Amino acid sequence: MKGVIIIKYEKSVAAIGGATVYMANEDGQDYIYSTDKTLGFKGVSTEYGIKAECNHENANVLRRLFPYTAPSRVLQHDKSFGVGDRLGVAAVGHIKVFERYDAYPVLVQQSIRELNLTHRTYEDVLDCVTYTVFKTGYKKGFGADGDHLKTEQDIQYALGLGFTMITLDCSEHIITDIDADFAVPQATLQRYADKFFEIEDGEVLSFDKEQLKQISMIYDDAIAFAADIYHKYIKGSNADFEISIDETATTTTPLQHFYVANELKQKGVNFATMAPRFCGEFQKGIDYIGDIAQFEKEIDIHAKIARYFGYKISVHSGSDKFSIFPMVAKATKGVFHVKTAGTNWLEAMRVVAAKDAELYRQIHKYALKMFTEAKKYYHVTTDITKIPDIDSLKDEDLPKLFDQNESRQLIHITYGFILDEYRGQLYTLWGTHHVEYEKALLTHIGKHLDLLGVPLISLK
Ligand code: ZN
Repeated sequence: MKGVIIIKYEKSVAAIGGATVYMANEDGQDYIYSTDKTLGFKGVSTEYGIKAECNHENANVLRRLFPYTAPSRVLQHDKSFGVGDRLGVAAVGHIKVFERYDAYPVLVQQSIRELNLTHRTYEDVLDCVTYTVFKTGYKKGFGADGDHLKTEQDIQYALGLGFTMITLDCSEHIITDIDADFAVPQATLQRYADKFFEIEDGEVLSFDKEQLKQISMIYDDAIAFAADIYHKYIKGSNADFEISIDETATTTTPLQHFYVANELKQKGVNFATMAPRFCGEFQKGIDYIGDIAQFEKEIDIHAKIARYFGYKISVHSGSDKFSIFPMVAKATKGVFHVKTAGTNWLEAMRVVAAKDAELYRQIHKYALKMFTEAKKYYHVTTDITKIPDIDSLKDEDLPKLFDQNESRQLIHITYGFILDEYRGQLYTLWGTHHVEYEKALLTHIGKHLDLLGVPLISLK
């Protein structure tokens, strides 16, 4: 008869009252063990206490007993960084990154679209991180971001689970059709006509009548929407508020940015971060495309506006934007929030290419087949004819595909299709090769943080 293999996670061992709680892996399955049966965990009695499954109810108990396993408000720190663990397997690697770098992570960060494409729930996304945090004994804190939320229902869903950040996507309330009959409200006119706003270092903003009319027409509905959401749900909650006006076709000008912030403050809205739409292209999973000198000029003014009002600039689609990170760091004086998501998925797929060439080849061909369909949901300029023919590549060259923009974008935008088709095989592989994935994340997310000027924590 074969014995049961139990591997205890040494770093999870935690004391509460006179009891000990820890996690262990028993024949491939993680469980929580508690020496005290009355702490609230639901499970089976053992000789030593209780053995409980890692489900949502028990995760709630864990978060109540050990607050470091629950999300907290990390945007309050100067440097915060979002790493969406789309798959539920990246958190161990992410934690290693933030044990080394002096920035605070948002480990839970998903949009509703990501939930739909991965067939996950917020409960699942949050619980995965809670258990990983407990298992690894990570106590520095992490945020949970309901990312790009657009409806009251979704906001209530995220807040109900204790999410500590809500990113409000205002894009559907940003008006793009010109209304010739639009009249600027009288009170707005009074706030801006003939006024000069000195934001910093002699940088002065002022609005002429035509500019004011344009801006008021485009943004007033979005501002009203954000104010309504804030007063209904965010005020009095334990969540930071991020205003996202980045999902638009045109760049946010400094005047537009100032106006939105000023009007929100006028309406008593407190927010921690704002994501304008910067110049150039922030395509998923690849470096910045555009005029870097222009970006440097614009981020400088955006950062000044943010400081003037006392919030942080948030840079979305931050995956792999290596060429502009030093400018973000400089302009914001090291006070920023940056979000990444796709790159964490791409690193997971790089591991697949390195460890199972046959599987990767199949997935790659499947992605090519699904590319046109996937492209409907993303703005990318990928020229897939630039991707080398995979049949001509040697196995050992497959991971290098992830150094090339076109193949990165191919695998990035088809992730929902890939997961639907290869889920079981992929998760088995990531389970076996989790150490490689942790190393890949440490290197790759580490590179983001290095270029953003995030210092290392001195190792004791
Ligand atoms: Zn965004």
